[in-house]
Amino acid sequence: MVDSLRFDNRVVIITGAGSGLGKAYALEFGKRGAKVVANDLGVSRNGEGHSSRVADIIVQEIQKLGGIAVANYDSVENGDRIVKTAIENFGRVDIVINNAGILRDSSILKMKDADWDIIMSIHLKGAFTVIKAAWKYMKQQKFGRIINTSSGSGIYGNFGQANYGAAKMGLHGMTLSLAKEGEKNNIRINSITPVAASRMTEDLLAPEILNIVTPEKIVPLVVYLCHESCNDTGGLYEACGGLITRVRWQRSPGIFFSGQFSAEDVQARWREINSFETTRLGNPDYPTSTTDTLKKVLYLIQE
Ligand code: NAD
Repeated sequence: MVDSLRFDNRVVIITGAGSGLGKAYALEFGKRGAKVVANDLGVSRNGEGHSSRVADIIVQEIQKLGGIAVANYDSVENGDRIVKTAIENFGRVDIVINNAGILRDSSILKMKDADWDIIMSIHLKGAFTVIKAAWKYMKQQKFGRIINTSSGSGIYGNFGQANYGAAKMGLHGMTLSLAKEGEKNNIRINSITPVAASRMTEDLLAPEILNIVTPEKIVPLVVYLCHESCNDTGGLYEACGGLITRVRWQRSPGIFFSGQFSAEDVQARWREINSFETTRLGNPDYPTSTTDTLKKVLYLIQE
């Protein structure tokens, strides 16, 4: 099959491009004609040490396949330097894939402030600094595609990952706001929650599962979301072993108190508040802004 989704003359920044998912993205974007800025600090799974080797190796691999790539060795916390590498080498930046990440798992009582801070700094602040530095170029050229890498731990929760889960859910919060900010300048931003075999999951998933959930099965979703033909924005997409789905907020019809009400009234109607069945107040719905909530209240007051 011909690769019709091409990225010739597009410049893509991929953070954490040296291993796992980032490496798979970098190889595919290189193959599809993009100029790749392969960022990687070359750290261990929990963020220790650093080495320029991992970024150099992926750049060499892309070049060997006939692609164009340059390495960047900065931490994502210095996103402006990563964007500078793109501008100095290729003169523009079209796509940012915020993918770099580490783990510092522990249950809440054992979690050190340092474990909290580093996770926020790399996942959340890292994505923010890269996006902020790239945004002005995307705005000027009226084109930008951004991916934030969230996680099932963020959107569903996971034992021992209060720090990681908060950062990953925070990334989707960032996506939702920036989708609104980027709309008029053709800057589209989406979140993904991947499940893939990598050093992050190699000791968590069984070998037979690892064989199914290869990083290559996440790549097509990310490539399509980053292409100029995809205009969706503000989405949250799950990808795992060939399954690709969209996740959204669902709101129960709930209850409405038109006069004064107490905690006891809430207790008495608790089952209805939690029910997603259709009621006199309507069907469950899928809100996308606080305005949707206010509209519902105003409608119910007038009823
Ligand atoms: P990985 O450990 O194989 O790759 C992460 C890469 O990021 C490494 O090469 C590392 O050196 C780099 N990195 C770490 N900190 C950095 C920093 N400060 N600056 C620049 N580079 C840095 O992990 P992976 O499984 O490929 O994960 C990629 C992303 O996907 C991460 O954000 C992870 O949280 C997320 N994720 C992965 C899974 C999964 O199943 N693998 C699930 C949910 C979310």
